[in-house]
Amino acid sequence: MSAHTPRYRLADRVVHKNESIRTHMLSLAAGLQGVIALGRGDPDLPTPAHIIKAGQEALEAGATHYTPPQGLPELRKAICAKLHRENELAYTPEEVIVTTGAQEGIYVALLALLNPGDEVLVTSPGYTSYHQAVELAGGVAVPVPIYQKDNFALTAEAVRAKITPRTRILCLINPSNPTGSVTPRTELEKLAQLAIEHDLMVISDEIYERIVFDGHMVTSFASLPGMKERTITLNGFSKAYAMTGWRVGYMAAPRELIAVMSEIHHGLTICAPAMSQHAALAALAGPQQCVEEHRQVFSERRAFFRRFLDKLGLTYGEPQGAFYLYTNVSALGMRASEFCLWLLQEARVMVFPGTLFGDHNDDFVRISLLQPMPKLHEAADRMTQAIAKLAG
Ligand code: PLP
Repeated sequence: MSAHTPRYRLADRVVHKNESIRTHMLSLAAGLQGVIALGRGDPDLPTPAHIIKAGQEALEAGATHYTPPQGLPELRKAICAKLHRENELAYTPEEVIVTTGAQEGIYVALLALLNPGDEVLVTSPGYTSYHQAVELAGGVAVPVPIYQKDNFALTAEAVRAKITPRTRILCLINPSNPTGSVTPRTELEKLAQLAIEHDLMVISDEIYERIVFDGHMVTSFASLPGMKERTITLNGFSKAYAMTGWRVGYMAAPRELIAVMSEIHHGLTICAPAMSQHAALAALAGPQQCVEEHRQVFSERRAFFRRFLDKLGLTYGEPQGAFYLYTNVSALGMRASEFCLWLLQEARVMVFPGTLFGDHNDDFVRISLLQPMPKLHEAADRMTQAIAKLAG
């Protein structure tokens, strides 16, 4: 028997086209000292103390076993109360599944709904896990372009142009990752009309819903007339409560679908981590001031970095929500992917190109504001110096 490394025969659908630049950048960064990472989507702020305490107490009290697959009944009840209070949504605990992060919900929903060749509309740029999940579920991801001139708002007109007899699902991420745009209610109403006309299901990912600025409001898609029956709402604790590592999110949907999705969820992860569910319950039941405090921190960082980009003469989509600045670097005479590699080497600042988010053109970078203010100042100084060299 030879000890050769076997040649793995991969399924075609798992070959992911855009990842190579991310891998390349991460390995470059690993060899550099003092890189300031403005690429990731993981809040740098700590999980609030009362939530950590609830997780610790749960562990000590023996929450180290499986929970009911759909999630702790008291957590599902608290989720329903939240959806009612904040989102004008009326769900019962039987219509909710607690998932291992909203990420799992994406897969569960698409695995439940797709047959081979079914088409799913996803924004370009967008959160690429959707593209990947669609492909793994045997569907076809159809990009719907969104443009800087529209402040990256998804328009019903662009969606309509991509609908075919095979279209089954529209994926909405509101507020958007990577652009931070919030789809206005008027546009959501037009999308609701399209969903009825073309018998579409909608996956509404509202994970950034509580991080909005300048009075922008997120309308939960399922709260629009007639949409509850057609919508799977995804949400979670990672962004609002800085709980990415706890891995807990949830989905709300019509009961008939929940029955099918519960089976898939059970097959994938059995249940979300027990201690994390207790922590999530504390997040919902406890004081909400921490969410506002985090939002304020992001708001200050956003204001600072916007002023910096304005000074550089770089444009970006008006960030109405989330914690990203989707920035056009074409004025610097480079493709965005080239710029990211250059910036990493020249300034030791890491941002990711829009192509990693399925962008149809290579002009944008996503800058995430998930570093403390002194680091953002330092990143801005380094970027200024590097860009000055370009001009010279
Ligand atoms: N949905 C969107 C739009 C995201 O940006 C992310 C993470 O960045 C997720 C879902 C996954 O969130 P979670 O940590 O709850 O799995």
